Amino acid sequence: MKSSLRELLFDNRLVRELPADPITENYRRQVSGAIYSLVNPTPVKNPQLVAGAIEVAALLDLDASIFQQADFVKVFSGNQLLAGMQPHACCYGGHQFGNWAGQLGDGRAINLGEVLNSKGEHWTLQLKGAGPTPYSRTADGLAVLRSSVREFLCSEAMFHLGVPTTRALSLITTGEQVRRDMFYDGNPAWEPGAVVCRVAPSFTRFGNFEILSARGEIELLKRFVDFTIRNDFPQLLAAPDSPITTDTYLCWFSEVCIRTAQMIAHWMRVGFVHGVMNTDNMSILGLTIDYGPYGWLEGYDPSWTPNTTDAQGRRYRYGNQPQIALWNLTQLANAIYPLINSVEPLQAALSNYRIEYEKCVQRDIANKLGLVAFDSPRDEALTEELFALLQSAEIDMTIFYRELAGYSVNDIDQYSDLDWFANIAPAYYEQPTEENRVVAVSWLRRYGQRLQQDLVMHNRSDVERREIMNRTNPKYVLRNYLAQQAIDKATQGDNSEIDCLLHLLRNPYDEQPNFTRYYAKRPDWARHKAGCSMLSCSS
Ligand code: AMP
Ligand code: MG
Repeated sequence: MKSSLRELLFDNRLVRELPADPITENYRRQVSGAIYSLVNPTPVKNPQLVAGAIEVAALLDLDASIFQQADFVKVFSGNQLLAGMQPHACCYGGHQFGNWAGQLGDGRAINLGEVLNSKGEHWTLQLKGAGPTPYSRTADGLAVLRSSVREFLCSEAMFHLGVPTTRALSLITTGEQVRRDMFYDGNPAWEPGAVVCRVAPSFTRFGNFEILSARGEIELLKRFVDFTIRNDFPQLLAAPDSPITTDTYLCWFSEVCIRTAQMIAHWMRVGFVHGVMNTDNMSILGLTIDYGPYGWLEGYDPSWTPNTTDAQGRRYRYGNQPQIALWNLTQLANAIYPLINSVEPLQAALSNYRIEYEKCVQRDIANKLGLVAFDSPRDEALTEELFALLQSAEIDMTIFYRELAGYSVNDIDQYSDLDWFANIAPAYYEQPTEENRVVAVSWLRRYGQRLQQDLVMHNRSDVERREIMNRTNPKYVLRNYLAQQAIDKATQGDNSEIDCLLHLLRNPYDEQPNFTRYYAKRPDWARHKAGCSMLSCSS
C-alpha cells in the first residue's frame, strides 16, 4: 500500500494510443477527427474533503491515510496535477430520449489519467464538475453538492450491492457557488459547488462510437473499437497482439450485450431506476454510469420514473429499463455496422441480450424467493402473480422481499391467514384493505407450497434458503429520502449523515441491528418532496 499520491504510477493508454484534438485552447467547439481534447481542470477557491471511500483508494494501492494528506484535496479538486497525469475530456455523442443529439462529450468530466496498480489493473481517474471543457456546450462544467453527494453515495452503494458500477474515490466541496435552476421554473439559486472523483477501468460509452460513425469517421471508429477490445476486453483475444477480425468485433459486441443484460437485471433486482438511459450514459463495460436523477423504487411501481424531465413519456421508467437497454444496444449495433457490413450476425448478438437477461432474471427471482432453481413455466405464473400482488396496493419493494425470508418452511402447514400476512404487513404504505389481504395471502399460500416442494426436491435447509434470500434481497438501499437528508445536513456543513450512509451501505445485506431505523418505508413528508420523489436533471 502506498501512503503518498506521488507514488501513483500513470500509464495513459488512451492518450498515448489514440488521436488528440490538435487544439489545446479551452473553448466550446465541435471536435472531429479526434477521440479526446487535452484540457486542465479549473482551479477552485477553497477545496474541502467531504467524504472518501477507502475501498476505492485501495484499488489504487493507496492506504486510508491518503485522505488526510494536504495534497489530496488539491489533486482531487483539480487544483494540482500529479506527475504523469494528462488531463483530457473525451468526445462522444448520443441518443437522448430516443433522438440523435449530435456531439455531447465530457462537458464537465475530466479524465486525469490511468493509474496502473500493483495487480496490473488500469483505473481511470475522472473529476466530475472540475470546470468547462471543449464539450461543455452552453453549460458551466460544474456540479453542485446535492448531485455530487448522490453520485458519491450511490456509486458505492451499488458496488456493495454487487451491481456493476463506476466507483467514487472522493467528494470535495469547492468553496465556490454554482447557479442552478433546480426546478426549471425560472428561479435559479446559488448552491455549493463540488467535485467527485470517479474511478473505473474506462469511461467509454456507447456514444463514443456513435459520434464517430455518425460523422463517417470509420477509420477512427475502427481504431477506437480495436483499442477498446485490446484494453477493456483483453480476454477476447488469445494473445495481446492477436489480430482483430470481424469475428472479434462480433464477440465483443455480444459481450457488451451480455454485460448490459447483467447490469439491467441487477437494477431490476434491487429496484434501481437510472432515470436517464441515454446512449451517452451507457458504459461499454456494462457499468452503471452517470448518477443523475436516479431513484430507488419504494412502492413497487413499474411505471415510476424519478426524472421530472421524463414525467410525460416515462421512457426511462423502472419497468421499461430492459427494453431501453436493448434499444440502446441497437444504436450501438448501428454505429459499429461499418466494421461488420452484415446485419444478421449483429442481430444474433443482440438476441444474446434477451437470452442473458432472461437467464439472470430467472436466477434472481429464484434467489429472491428462496427457490433452488426457477422452474418454467410454473414459476413464471407464480412470478406474474407476485408482480400483480406487489401492485395491488402501495407496497415497499425492499421490505416486502426482505420479509419473505422470515417464513419457516417446516411451519408452513400451521400458518393461519393472519400468520401469513403478518410478515409482509409492514411493507404496506397504507392500512391494507380486506381485499389486499386476500390477494396477498392467496399468493403467499401458493408460494408456501412451492417452497415446500422445493425443500423436498432439493433438501435445502431453511438456514441456507434464508441466507441466499438475504444475500439477494438487500435490507438497506439508498432510499431517495435518505440521500436527501444527507444532502440537507451537508449543505449546513454537517457531513455526518454521508459518513453514516456510506458505512451502512457497505453491508446492505446484513441485519445491522444498530441501523434498523434505516429499514423503514419512505416517511410521508418525503412523498412529494423535491429530491425525494422527483428529481430534475439540473445538477
Ligand atoms: P447528462 O444528461 O448529465 O448525462 O449530460 C448530458 C451531456 O451534458 C453530457 O455531455 C454532459 O457532459 C453535459 N453536461 C451536463 N451538465 C453539464 C454542465 N454543468 N456543464 C457542462 N456540460 C454538462
Ligand atoms: Mg452523461
